[in-house]
Amino acid sequence: MAAQILDGKEIAGKLGEQVRAEVKAFTAKHGVTPMLTVVIVGEDPASKVYVASKHKTCVELGMKSEVVRLSETATEEELLAVIDRLNADPLNHGILVQLPVPKHIDSEKVLERIRPDKDVDGFHPVNVGKLSIGKEHLVPCTPYGVIKMLEISGISVAGKNAVVIGRSNIVGKPMAALLLSRSATVTVTHSKTKDLASVCAQADILVAAIGKPEFVTKDMIKPGAVVIDVGINRLPTGKLVGDVKFDEASEVAGYITPVPGGVGPLTIAMLMYNTLRAAELQLQN
Ligand code: NAD
Repeated sequence: MAAQILDGKEIAGKLGEQVRAEVKAFTAKHGVTPMLTVVIVGEDPASKVYVASKHKTCVELGMKSEVVRLSETATEEELLAVIDRLNADPLNHGILVQLPVPKHIDSEKVLERIRPDKDVDGFHPVNVGKLSIGKEHLVPCTPYGVIKMLEISGISVAGKNAVVIGRSNIVGKPMAALLLSRSATVTVTHSKTKDLASVCAQADILVAAIGKPEFVTKDMIKPGAVVIDVGINRLPTGKLVGDVKFDEASEVAGYITPVPGGVGPLTIAMLMYNTLRAAELQLQN
């Protein structure tokens, strides 16, 4: 039987409606509108598309949004000065520095400069640490979106075998932490994992975050498993595909996310959710 599709667009739409209603209530109650500032350095075409889409979604959900554009040759000091200004601005609640930044800028230093309660990407070491001890403060948007997708789709996590392929700080590691704190039995796999296929074939929930087109094949999937494809890969033909070979995987899986239209829309939805949450946190401080 073919797998049930987890429709990221539809789920993100529901989350967006919820955020829109909460933003309206927040603004009415506190007389201030949640605001996100995205900082982009340079002219990377993919980054420009992402930034435009974040700005548009903010405005659609009733939030304020500003984009700060710095040239490719901007110095690290200039970028840090922008962050310092935004950190101190009470009308700005969320700061996101679009990655990658040019090579002459130390991205770690930049991310650590953002105030943890304005860190809507959830990459600051304080937020990473909180997540690792089960205190979710501001959580990275992509893995958080996966969790929301599972919740909204009524897929339980507790007691399940979850296998995460990939151990990046942006997706794999926070994904594992979120699944663990929801009581899954979690295995994190990576490029050095031995016999990856048989490890994956034990998974009730399989999350692929590798960055290799159609890497996960049918033989790596347990019949009936929930398959979450985080990958976004552009083939030389221009076609977008995930890390999972969708057609054959959907013959075996119980649930599967498509690419595009799966995890991607959830990532933006969770950025909006985090901006609202950041505004709430700052009122408490
Ligand atoms: P990354 O390159 O930082 O990490 C990839 C991980 O895959 C590494 O930990 C590596 O060990 C592992 N890996 C590589 N080859 C492997 C192999 N042969 N076997 C097992 N593991 C292997 O990538 P990332 O930032 O985590 O992103 C992963 C993918 O997710 C990319 O395609 C990226 O574009 C996509 N992504 C999508 C969204 C979204 O919104 N949907 C957000 C972030 C990233």
